[in-house]
Amino acid sequence: MVGCPEELARAFPDHLHEGKVNLKDLLPSELEAFVRLLGQSPYRARQLIRWLYVRRVGAFADMTDLSRAFRELLEAVAVLPSLHLASPQESLQDTTKFLFTLPDGNPIESVRMRYLEHLGPGRLAVCLSSQVGCAMGCEFCASGKLGLVRNLQAWEMVDQVLAIQRRVDARGERVANVVFMGIGEPLHNFRNLLRAIRILNHGDGLGIGMRHIAISTSGVVPAIRRLAEKRLPLKLAISLHATRDELRDRLMPVNRRWNLAELLASCREYQAATGRRMTFEYVMLDGVNDSLEEADRLVELLGGLRSLVNLIPWNPVDHPSFRRSSKIRVRAFQERVQQGGLRCTVRREKGSDIDAACGQLRLREIRRNVGAAPRAENTPAFSAGG
Ligand code: SF4
Repeated sequence: MVGCPEELARAFPDHLHEGKVNLKDLLPSELEAFVRLLGQSPYRARQLIRWLYVRRVGAFADMTDLSRAFRELLEAVAVLPSLHLASPQESLQDTTKFLFTLPDGNPIESVRMRYLEHLGPGRLAVCLSSQVGCAMGCEFCASGKLGLVRNLQAWEMVDQVLAIQRRVDARGERVANVVFMGIGEPLHNFRNLLRAIRILNHGDGLGIGMRHIAISTSGVVPAIRRLAEKRLPLKLAISLHATRDELRDRLMPVNRRWNLAELLASCREYQAATGRRMTFEYVMLDGVNDSLEEADRLVELLGGLRSLVNLIPWNPVDHPSFRRSSKIRVRAFQERVQQGGLRCTVRREKGSDIDAACGQLRLREIRRNVGAAPRAENTPAFSAGG
């Protein structure tokens, strides 16, 4: 039989959900292959894309320009899972943090930001999670405390955008920017990350431009090189946070595997391949990395790179070792970096009033449900993803 469940399962073994093909996890080209296997014209794939990502329906029954017979066939062989929205938390500062529950019960979180200066009216940015938990173990991060549970599938990343977009559709607002800066090391989930980006970017669907998609990494050097080889105009942000290996080794264990010299070399390769300016995130920790000497070293380290340094006021989690740098110290650091010839901004604080430090909302939810807490896998911490 054309398109029998066994044949479809063989064709899409990595994209099954409850034994059926998960259409939301397929790339547009794979959707075309899927409809062909069902004996349909490729045009049906474009119709499905529009229903899923433009009209954003959640059930085959709502796809009213498809024949009843085709919809019944889809019901029999395919599924459209979705994330469950557990709690939106409104912030005082135009930031909304969402806690989602995945089909397997794991919680993840996303953040919606509106009124960012560079976006313009009605255009929003969302910050997505790419993993359940994180293996990278950064000293200052709530997510790092729980370890990695699993990678998110591509559809689980895209569905964060769809769920948020649906909530703002009535206001005529549009998610225009996506940043993979939530929970997880996105380059640790390389294959699914790129699949999610291709789905978000597709012109018949959400149409979010590659230049409006940013990936933030702790510094997984082989994956940065691999991403450079793809020559996609994606924005890459490096969580730097230190200018000496000795300190970075302590703050970010990834540095023990790939030190600052290797990291900066991979950034130069990325810039040469994509032409994109690099962003360096630098969290300001009082008395740890916020001296003027550190500012000078930062200028030296980034010499020759077209870059933006983004200083992040420390957003305290329950970590007794770190304190927030004073505004005076942050300002002095910023001026010193600017005097060195680099662009340097201070991140406007969005959401510190709503547990918006990375992973805090998820951490709180897990603590509330003690006993249901996910167990971290023994996944190698520094693989470059699939
Ligand atoms: S800061 Fe990012 S990379 Fe580091 S542990 Fe947290 S989520 Fe992972």
